[in-house]
Amino acid sequence: MAAMKWWGWGLPGVEFRHEDKPDLGPFFNDVLGLELGRVTAAPIRFEDLRIPEPRLPEALGAALDQAVGAAFVSVDPLDRVVHARGKSLRDLIRQRRGELRRVPDVVVRPGSEDEVTAILRAAVSSDAVVIPFGGGSSISGSLEAAVAETRPVISVDLVRLDKLLAIDGSSRLARVQAGVFGPHLEQQLGAQGYTFGHFPDSFTHSTLGGWIATRSSGMQSDRYGDIADMTKGLRVVTPSGTLVTRPVPTTSTGPSIREMVLGSEGRLGLITEATVHVRRIPERRTILGYLFPSFAGGLAAMRDIAESECSVSVTRVSDAHETRFSFAMRKRATPVDRLQSMALRTFLQRRRGYDLRQMCLSFIGYEGTDGHVAGQRKAVGKLVKRHGGLCIGSGPGALYDQKKFDTPHIRDFLLDRGAAADVSETAMPWSRLTPVYAAVTAAAQRAFAELGVQGYLMCHLSHSYHAGACLYFTFAFLPTPRGDMIAEYDVVKSAIQQAFVDNGATLSHHHAVGTEHAQWLEQDISAPGVVMLEALFEGTDPGKHLNPGKIV
Ligand SMILES: Cc1cc2nc3c(=O)[nH]c(=O)nc-3n(C[C@H](O)[C@H](O)[C@H](O)COP(=O)(O)OP(=O)(O)OC[C@H]3O[C@@H](n4cnc5c(N)ncnc54)[C@H](O)[C@@H]3O)c2cc1C
Repeated sequence: MAAMKWWGWGLPGVEFRHEDKPDLGPFFNDVLGLELGRVTAAPIRFEDLRIPEPRLPEALGAALDQAVGAAFVSVDPLDRVVHARGKSLRDLIRQRRGELRRVPDVVVRPGSEDEVTAILRAAVSSDAVVIPFGGGSSISGSLEAAVAETRPVISVDLVRLDKLLAIDGSSRLARVQAGVFGPHLEQQLGAQGYTFGHFPDSFTHSTLGGWIATRSSGMQSDRYGDIADMTKGLRVVTPSGTLVTRPVPTTSTGPSIREMVLGSEGRLGLITEATVHVRRIPERRTILGYLFPSFAGGLAAMRDIAESECSVSVTRVSDAHETRFSFAMRKRATPVDRLQSMALRTFLQRRRGYDLRQMCLSFIGYEGTDGHVAGQRKAVGKLVKRHGGLCIGSGPGALYDQKKFDTPHIRDFLLDRGAAADVSETAMPWSRLTPVYAAVTAAAQRAFAELGVQGYLMCHLSHSYHAGACLYFTFAFLPTPRGDMIAEYDVVKSAIQQAFVDNGATLSHHHAVGTEHAQWLEQDISAPGVVMLEALFEGTDPGKHLNPGKIV
């Protein structure tokens, strides 16, 4: 797997284009006052970066060479810069400006668990810091070494641990090495008729180990569960040896060690292997589009589906602001498309009484046998109708399914034009959904007003559970002409995060804590919760060699 751009999302040469989307320019002009045609802020050139010299003591360098072979020990400047950070907005802005700070001194790529053990042993005996690196897609500041870190920093890239090792077909369990990227995992499982079913938006550039270490959640989690549900057994190299948990369906062995590793962000050790739950590739997979007259109606329908006997793979409903954005992303329409969409609009207004400005777009996914999918569509259709919803077929869903991995490129596209955009997501009980949505909307508007900027906030429900759901907010604004984009981003991001914890929601449903969300941890899990986490990290890694400073 090739490395992502050192300054942005995705592979070099792959970028978001707006020319084939005629409504996008007018949309951004209206909501942000932004001219898409003008690129105003390109990233600094790599040649102009001031990359600090690696601080790698000779003995440590020799020990790493011996651990993995000199070919897999790199002090190449580009390699070190790529491994310095993840892809949060703060990371992107600073990389583009050339504000590098504490770059890892060396990048090592082990090819086996024994090699991982040898690296950790060398690091501990040389008092060095180890930061595990999966795909580098962290959005929470989980990969950067502290600026004041004086010890050598080793980025351990697990890319070579990429094999599907075995499948226990009768238990539907697969043993997989942790450095495997999403597409390669699906390809290896697919060759034997299985799927993992974990499809985060970052799927193409993230790994199994990274998903586990951040408690990730994929688009189809309503059917497959999130990574915590799917991970059954683990192997983790820790300072006191290799931790092994058995892949049993459940266990009564005291507080769950497996759960402690989930979301540990490299602070407990390096995950080398996991035994995960897989499924047979379904006969049919389809995502249907629906329209609702309001966000409240769409949310109520998703709650009814979650509460019912229905089993769907995706439940997603956008608010009116995000629906407007989705429509602005459409490609140039043919005359037939235009006629059809005009007819639909007229029908919705005249026959269904929709106010088109409040209309909300929704996607519901179905998987299984033909018969199962047909039955589910019918049952869901009744619940949708109860809330004034209307099915608009499989076309929009298929398009959304194809394009979803392109969306992450938009942040770079907007940064090139001087605008900031990022996300904050959370989970809460169904009873708190509306208050949280209202509080976040008010908080973001207050933040935009305080800064004196034109901003845009949009939201969708992205995952449903019996007891609650995940709300995913995206915000964008054009910073003030002389302001600092990071400082202004902090004002908006903090307002949204604070609204989460003040209103009974969590600081993150699936983006982890890292350094970006750490300031809200105590409000979320209470002071004794933080004490327990500190004791866990301190007890496991008293020398603070493993990704120090993350989470707490
Ligand atoms: C545009 C965008 C879209 C995203 N969409 C989603 C989404 O839909 N769902 C979602 O859940 N997340 C999403 N994320 C967040 C990110 O992709 C996830 O956190 C992902 O799980 C990180 O995986 P990674 O392999 O890239 O890990 P990295 O970013 O490399 O690492 C993340 C953390 O895990 C640790 N780590 C990595 N591998 C190991 C290992 N083998 N052992 C121990 N620790 C390890 C690292 O040290 C670090 O602390 C998105 C991020 C971006 C930028």
